[in-house]
Amino acid sequence: MFDYIIVGSGFAGSVCARSLADAGKRVLVLERRPHIGGNAYDCTDENGILIHKYGPHIFHTNEKRVYEYLSRFTEWRKYDHEVLAKAGELEFPVPFNLNSLYKVFSAKKAEMLEKKLISAYGPQKKVPIGEMRESTDDDIRELAEFVYNNVFLHYTMKQWGQKPEEIDPATTARVPVFISRDNRYFQDEYQGMPLYGYTPMFERMLDHKNITVKCSVNADAYLKFEDKIIFENEIFEGKVIYTGALDELFGYCYGALPYRTLDFGFEHHDVTYYQSHGTVNYTVDEPYTRITEYKYLTGQEMEGSTTIMKEFSRSYRPETEDIPYYAIINDENNSLYQKYLSKAKEYENLLLLGRLAEYKYYNMDKIVSLALQLCDTLTEEK
Ligand SMILES: Cc1cc2nc3c(=O)[nH]c(=O)nc-3n(C[C@H](O)[C@H](O)[C@H](O)COP(=O)(O)OP(=O)(O)OC[C@H]3O[C@@H](n4cnc5c(N)ncnc54)[C@H](O)[C@@H]3O)c2cc1C
Repeated sequence: MFDYIIVGSGFAGSVCARSLADAGKRVLVLERRPHIGGNAYDCTDENGILIHKYGPHIFHTNEKRVYEYLSRFTEWRKYDHEVLAKAGELEFPVPFNLNSLYKVFSAKKAEMLEKKLISAYGPQKKVPIGEMRESTDDDIRELAEFVYNNVFLHYTMKQWGQKPEEIDPATTARVPVFISRDNRYFQDEYQGMPLYGYTPMFERMLDHKNITVKCSVNADAYLKFEDKIIFENEIFEGKVIYTGALDELFGYCYGALPYRTLDFGFEHHDVTYYQSHGTVNYTVDEPYTRITEYKYLTGQEMEGSTTIMKEFSRSYRPETEDIPYYAIINDENNSLYQKYLSKAKEYENLLLLGRLAEYKYYNMDKIVSLALQLCDTLTEEK
């Protein structure tokens, strides 16, 4: 009786479910967590503060279609995310920009560097430090080293558990200096937060007569991948859109795909605000990478009460309660993924979508865009 079974109710699964339902298809969504929304899920904590359980999610996109699609299910709160780096005693905006120069150096030196940067690269440019390192000007090269050491190096070591020599030089080279006074973390045309939170947006998206959602169920309780896909003891003739991890789907038969996971340290404080910005990155010390204070993101007002969250990054242990957050993308892991992909292709009615199923990092808007494209194709088919 279902045309589609969708595994996972994050952006990938939920956007597909709604688009297919709107096109008259009957859809079953299976979600193992007790809630919908995937990693974008938000809820209020015991102090009544709206938090993002799986890390801070800020919506931003340049794709009008994505923004308009989600706007069917939510209004938006205007929010321009700004991130501060804390490097010892220094505090400055990141990505490193012209304002950062004046926070870090004396006014005279900052002015000199500003003039040199503008004359070398022009205003409003994002110049990778790799390019700055090749400059013939000693001051510009020195600035590139400052940014490397105080913004990038330790933060990246914490985030990816790497030694300096293990960090891909190409990644280092891409770290930008923004020749601008714009402190916003994202420059996208559309950015903000769902006015009432992500979860109500997902609830509205999945609220459709053609959609059945089952939470707290693992897909393998319903679906068996034998020669064919079996659903309720019969060959399933519809299509399965799978947004979970591929290695897990096939019992880790070729070994587990490596990921980084995160431990979140939530803390409640009896102050109206704990820090000056939504997110502060700890770029040279502290074991955590960043602290997010949710009230800045959500706009929630509450006197004398706030919740912050510290993020600790570490290796993911497969087949435990750990959540795989960031795929570790390199040639070896990609070829392992390809083996699983070949196995998945044996099932002609199995479609893969999402950050887990595709073993990639995607921002939310990209996943919405890909889900809409996939459904365009599916609904054009007979
Ligand atoms: C810490 C962090 C911060 C981020 N911040 C931002 C941000 O600020 N802006 C931005 O654009 N993007 C951000 N992202 C990226 C964003 O989280 C992803 O783009 C988005 O989650 C992708 O959606 P998805 O549906 O592919 O995956 P998910 O949201 O992970 O959804 C997959 C769902 O499938 C379910 N599932 C998996 N396997 C099974 C199974 N076998 N049976 C049943 N259910 C299953 C899972 O429980 C999960 O709910 C961030 C990511 C992280 C990790």
